[in-house]
Amino acid sequence: MEKKDIDWGNLGFAYMPTDKRFVANYKNGAWDEGTLTSDPNVVLNECACVFQYSQSCFEGLKAYTTEDGHIVTFRPDLNAERMANSARRLEMPAYPEDKFIEAVVKTVEANEAYVPPYGSGATLYIRPYMFGSNAVIGVKPADEYQFRILTTPVGPYFKGGAKPLTIRVSDFDRAAPHGTGHIKAGLNYAMSLHAIVSAHQEGYDENMYLDAATRTKVEETGGANFIFVTKDGTVVTPKSDSILPSITRRSLMYVAEHYLGLKAETREVYFDEVKDFAECGLCGTAAVISPVGKIVDHGKEICFPSGMTEMGPVTKKLYETLTGIQMGRIEAPEGWIKVIK
Ligand SMILES: *Cc1c(COP(=O)(O)O)cnc(C)c1O
Repeated sequence: MEKKDIDWGNLGFAYMPTDKRFVANYKNGAWDEGTLTSDPNVVLNECACVFQYSQSCFEGLKAYTTEDGHIVTFRPDLNAERMANSARRLEMPAYPEDKFIEAVVKTVEANEAYVPPYGSGATLYIRPYMFGSNAVIGVKPADEYQFRILTTPVGPYFKGGAKPLTIRVSDFDRAAPHGTGHIKAGLNYAMSLHAIVSAHQEGYDENMYLDAATRTKVEETGGANFIFVTKDGTVVTPKSDSILPSITRRSLMYVAEHYLGLKAETREVYFDEVKDFAECGLCGTAAVISPVGKIVDHGKEICFPSGMTEMGPVTKKLYETLTGIQMGRIEAPEGWIKVIK
């Protein structure tokens, strides 16, 4: 297979159309078989439910080349399960989980020429998504849906090293108690755009959202979960029903306990205790972990002892172990690596 002539190491995180994408349609109460298509455009009725009432959800995962030359994805069964949960919360028909994995495999195979080579740091980002596609004007779920998967090659997340981030405590809320914070719905992102644009204007990389009810507990950022490390080396991640259950975070907590022999706790984290942590990181598929150096709460700065130049030592070990597992340099737990070819 001849790879595309792409400067893999200098790709950013931007959309580049690839040769094929997967499309399946739901109509009269059933999903069709689905197919690959070359057409990157979606043509819908002007009154489609997704346009009027934002009935949509999505997933994000990556395909990459391992050290021994296989093309793999990481725990796609958890993306399938999470997307089914997102769909049910939005009154959409879940796309069958086994079919989801089959469709991911088919789409990656069809775009093999765009899967970056081992060592480039780049990956093929995979974006499954689903939306209500027929015309709806009264407020109700659509009757017809489209499930699609697009892929796009993306560059190494940390070009020239992982520079710690500066984040602020947001005055906006991300998710209501009993709301939709725990599902990957487009609507959660639409309403976070204002907060992230204003954070960037003020010189911050990200927003830390607190729990909307009491504003005393740490939730997450717009697109990544928090992991903290205590001064005695315990890995702590916030517990809340309105946090999106990150697959990276769940994997890192497992790695902390079972590979690194650390204590790993999932519990409520009060903002007041954040100043006592030794390290802080943001976890998600894109970066695995981005170190946080500083958190600013209305002018009051919390500076982690790990500093503003490199990852803290535990964060670094977590990062290296999980990326080692993903790239095939370290043995993975049963079922974590789905070999595509
Ligand atoms: C997707 C997402 C994450 C990260 O989840 P991963 O499965 O690790 O990629 C975290 N928070 C939010 C709000 C997200 O949408």
